[in-house]
Amino acid sequence: MPTKLSSLEIPKVRVSHRGAQRLKAGHVWVYRSDVLAADGIAPGSLVDVVDERGRFLGTAFYSSASQIAIRWLSRDPVREPENMLRQRIRDAIAYRERVVQDTNAYRVVFSEGDFLPGLIVDRYRDLLAIEILTQAMDQESMRAAIVSELSDAFEPTAILERSEPKIRELEQLPPRASGLLLGEKSSTIFAMNGVKFHYDGLAGQKTGAFLDQRENYAAAAQYARGQALDAFCYQGGFALHLARHGSRVTGVDSSRPALEMADRNAELNGCSIEWIEGNAFDLLRDYSAAGHRYDTIVLDPPAFARSRSTLETALRGYKELNLRAIKMLSPGGILISCSCSYHVSERDLLGVVSDAAHDNRRNLRILESRTQAKDHPILCSVPETGYLKCLIFIVS
Ligand code: SAH
Repeated sequence: MPTKLSSLEIPKVRVSHRGAQRLKAGHVWVYRSDVLAADGIAPGSLVDVVDERGRFLGTAFYSSASQIAIRWLSRDPVREPENMLRQRIRDAIAYRERVVQDTNAYRVVFSEGDFLPGLIVDRYRDLLAIEILTQAMDQESMRAAIVSELSDAFEPTAILERSEPKIRELEQLPPRASGLLLGEKSSTIFAMNGVKFHYDGLAGQKTGAFLDQRENYAAAAQYARGQALDAFCYQGGFALHLARHGSRVTGVDSSRPALEMADRNAELNGCSIEWIEGNAFDLLRDYSAAGHRYDTIVLDPPAFARSRSTLETALRGYKELNLRAIKMLSPGGILISCSCSYHVSERDLLGVVSDAAHDNRRNLRILESRTQAKDHPILCSVPETGYLKCLIFIVS
């Protein structure tokens, strides 16, 4: 029998009635304003959360810096977080075995969506890329458990860490460069939906690719036809899928390195795609004014609304893009309109696109209302885990 640790050894954090209600409703965060007492608790500690009257609510990770002070882990006492972490990584892998098909690149661990707050793990064929977002996950014992569990499960050629300086600063973690944690290789070629991509683990955005769009690429390709425009194309995720299904594609992005990679990807797949470096807003305005016509248009801009307060401006941005796109679409054309801002709801996006159609005197029908791929699981009680909207319309 293992020795039973006294619960006194785990520091306690007392939360307000509102904080306790939030946890009881299934959310996993308690904000600092709802923490009543957490004196002298070390950054990243495992803590017992108690309500105002001292009743045990569960075990959580504590951050001394983030506005999200508490990230809840379990209704039961957790005393060996490394073991919990290992088990949850195994559970996350088993979940992917059920829901992920036709790809060797996918998200293996999606933070709160996999009950592992602060940890992201992406697989790119033989490589794994991890991101650590919180004080608790950054502790040496946790890092060691992450690397060892992932090595056992995948036997990867390498494990890379992608470090976000801004996030580390907000968590008051010491700066740390992106780099290899295991092995020596940082690039590979992966394939999803039969389309091949170069992966360079120490360049690019996110952990390298936008894996959350994987299922949407396949859906878009199914409807796409004719002349296609992929606005905000990055390394060509949508463009390559459309080209493989026979469309003649133009991709536009403001990032030259992204387009260089996109071009290498096109070559890898034997596709011929026109890449344009530029501001997609300007291009859509100029092309629509010049009377260009398309049969398929993809709009996948970066997150315009980073907070509630910028929602109005963001919606104006989406409206403008969709207005120009709809104007250029031929009758029977396909519009794929995405938003990755959590603060823009599906209803908001639908409203904006619908207004844009009305202003153009066109009618839209919804073919599909989609979200992020299933390897980015949305936890029902934590709406923040769902952020991607991908609406597919047919224009008449
Ligand atoms: N559709 C892509 C992901 C797009 S991410 C995929 O599936 O992989 C958003 C992209 O918008 C980034 O590549 C970024 O470089 C680009 N971007 C940001 N602002 C832009 C602008 N004003 N004009 C064109 N591209 C822009």
